[in-house]
Amino acid sequence: MVAKNRVRWLGHAAFEIVTAEGVRILIDPWITGNPSCPAEKEEFSDVDIILVSHDHFDHVGEDMSYLLRAEPTVAVQPEVLADLKNKGLQEGIGMNVGGTVEVGDIQITMVQAFHSSGSGSPCGYILTTEDERKIYHAGDTGVFATMQVFGDMYDIDVALLPIGSVYVMDPLQAAHAAKMLRADTAVPMHYGTFPALVQDADEFSERVSELAPDTQVCVLRPGGEMSL
Ligand SMILES: [Zn+2]
Repeated sequence: MVAKNRVRWLGHAAFEIVTAEGVRILIDPWITGNPSCPAEKEEFSDVDIILVSHDHFDHVGEDMSYLLRAEPTVAVQPEVLADLKNKGLQEGIGMNVGGTVEVGDIQITMVQAFHSSGSGSPCGYILTTEDERKIYHAGDTGVFATMQVFGDMYDIDVALLPIGSVYVMDPLQAAHAAKMLRADTAVPMHYGTFPALVQDADEFSERVSELAPDTQVCVLRPGGEMSL
């Protein structure tokens, strides 16, 4: 059987992606203190790539020195990189919106997001795996019309979309995002973690089935994974 890429939700905006060739990518690693995260941080001490959408506590956790063992490649905005160095990470690639860097055979494209950030500006990522699968992590954002362009430019397999409202898109906005992105699969995130957020993905699933019937919603449990 051909190896597949695996996308594992760690609760909130945190995901671990393990590519078909075994490269481990950690996005928005809020592990310790994340009430939805079923994993211990030691599990990630040998990841290969770290991506951070912005510097809020629920996306970078606190001390990140546990990630140093394998000297992961950190691909973030230069200002965020400076901040991460204070949290224990040493080396990284500074990149910015619109840019693509290659780490091994994986392409990392940084795209915009509309939110706030203490350092740099918020972003999302579009990853292209070794076998050309595309995974979009939207970061924290409201809906924006350029998602339509992402849908034109990239044949997105999986879109990881915040749906929790208050700080990010609500289910209606996120369903319109799914419509514009035209991904095969949409995975809801950034909900249920705090009482203020939307608590389940039911409304998102309903609205996507109305607005973007060609997109399948995959609701993961924290710790659950899908493959592509
Ligand atoms: Zn957040």
